[in-house]
Amino acid sequence: MLSTMNDGPLSIARIMRQGTGPHGATAEVVTWTGAESRRSGYAEIGREAARLAHALRGLGVTGDQRVGTFMWNNAEHLTAYLAVPSMGAVLHTLNIRLFPEQLVYVANHAEDHVVLVDHTLLPLFAKLLPEMKTVRHAVVVGGDASALEAPAGVEVHGYADLLAGQPEEFDWPELDERSAAAMCYTSGTTANPKGVVYSHRSIYLHSMQVCMTDGMALEQGDRGLAVVPMFHAMSWGLPYGAFMVGASLIMPDRFLQPEPLVAMMTAERPTMAAAVPTIWQGVLAELAKEPHDISSLREVVIGGSACPPTMMRTFQEDYGITVVHAWGMTETSPLGSLARPPAGVTGEDEWPYRVSQGRLPASVEARLVDDDGRILQWDGLSIGELEVRGPWVAEAYYGDDDPEKFHDGWLRTGDVGYLTPEGFLHLTDRAKDVIKSGGEWISSVELENQVMAHPAVAEAMVIGVPDEKWSERPLVAVVLREGETADAAGLREFLSGSVARWQLPEYWTFITEAPKTSVGKFDKKRLRKQHSEGDLDVIHLT
Ligand code: ADP
Repeated sequence: MLSTMNDGPLSIARIMRQGTGPHGATAEVVTWTGAESRRSGYAEIGREAARLAHALRGLGVTGDQRVGTFMWNNAEHLTAYLAVPSMGAVLHTLNIRLFPEQLVYVANHAEDHVVLVDHTLLPLFAKLLPEMKTVRHAVVVGGDASALEAPAGVEVHGYADLLAGQPEEFDWPELDERSAAAMCYTSGTTANPKGVVYSHRSIYLHSMQVCMTDGMALEQGDRGLAVVPMFHAMSWGLPYGAFMVGASLIMPDRFLQPEPLVAMMTAERPTMAAAVPTIWQGVLAELAKEPHDISSLREVVIGGSACPPTMMRTFQEDYGITVVHAWGMTETSPLGSLARPPAGVTGEDEWPYRVSQGRLPASVEARLVDDDGRILQWDGLSIGELEVRGPWVAEAYYGDDDPEKFHDGWLRTGDVGYLTPEGFLHLTDRAKDVIKSGGEWISSVELENQVMAHPAVAEAMVIGVPDEKWSERPLVAVVLREGETADAAGLREFLSGSVARWQLPEYWTFITEAPKTSVGKFDKKRLRKQHSEGDLDVIHLT
């Protein structure tokens, strides 16, 4: 028997209507310009989205053409987030920090027809455009469009000129909720980037998770500081979530350094914020140098890589701000799990839950699989690779049948860890970073967290390096805090209270900067390369 319920599609247009209508006069997007902000109410963003959709129709975007964005987080990018999928086209957020050859690869692979580009990124973009074979129109946002030279077959437009005089309303089509709305390529550290294509339905359902109390808990009246780039896993769902419930958005544009971020927080009073640990590490160091009032923040969501427990403690104890640790991937939209302690758990007892990667929601099914393909128990002990599936989890890559990453509808995350009977995920490593010493696993994440708990340490990265006796041992690369000193022996001594004796690292190196990926995560591949090429000064403690 079929239900009697209406089957209206879950779509971005529906989210947009809610934001621009009921919340149109109260919610706003604020874009930082260096010393101050420019602001637009959501109703205005709705009119702008209509103008953009008309303009794009004029450029031949009549079906599911891909519209690329090469942009920072700002009001115009938000407009594209709404207009492009709602008109039936596909938004392709280009990660400006990928290597040029990867950027060219993804634009060609996705067959981008139009690219919107921030004028501040033109020097970078100008070099790529001639190689982007399917791009017919480049639309320059802000600045002077004539600064971009058009290669043969490409027209360059100014965003403001293109939108001027366009109607303020658009007849948004009713779309199949399963059709493509947006796409994002994973950074692909080893092979070519892989395209994840989100549907209207997957984004809609994911947005509800962003707003659930047990999710990111974004609500009306919130002011969400979206530090996580809109080109990195859809800014973790903040833009659509904000439109769904009428939360305002604070967009940092290109000002992602600690100093402007602190200035932005002081001036714009965000109630929640989301970013990877590296960003917060810089912000906390800045605050330690010069105190600022960031008490408007209720919570910060930290994920993308393991958040060091010391960072969570600092937020809580020094600033009264709760960190919500989250795990996810581009392939999971990205919210996979969020660490909120179970009801009734308070005080110190909360910490084991809060430092975990968190609980998976109903829509993200999980299983742990060992090397022989056996499914493991959620007993808090058995360690295996995490596999997930669900309505906002990818089950394939765009135009690439990579059977290694998917099987029977499950996504192999490449993340290794265990699950507790209460459903809390604890990641110990990425499969490719696992250290096997004398047949036993050592968690690089755990070691990093322990070293980063030392007051003199700003950052610590741990990789496995070859060892004659144990086949592999951990090497710790340490970045010290400004003005602090510590030596390898002292740090190892510090670890001896919390780390099993056989795991205590004997290889140490001090570096001035931790190599990072395009989205600010520890780049262990680069550190391994530096090590194998003899570029690191390694101290061997005996
Ligand atoms: P990339 O694979 O290029 O880093 P993603 O941004 O999709 O791109 O990264 C997803 C990966 O980031 C996960 O598979 C996991 O290894 C790591 N990750 C994300 N959040 C966390 C977290 N809270 N703790 C540990 N690792 C995390």
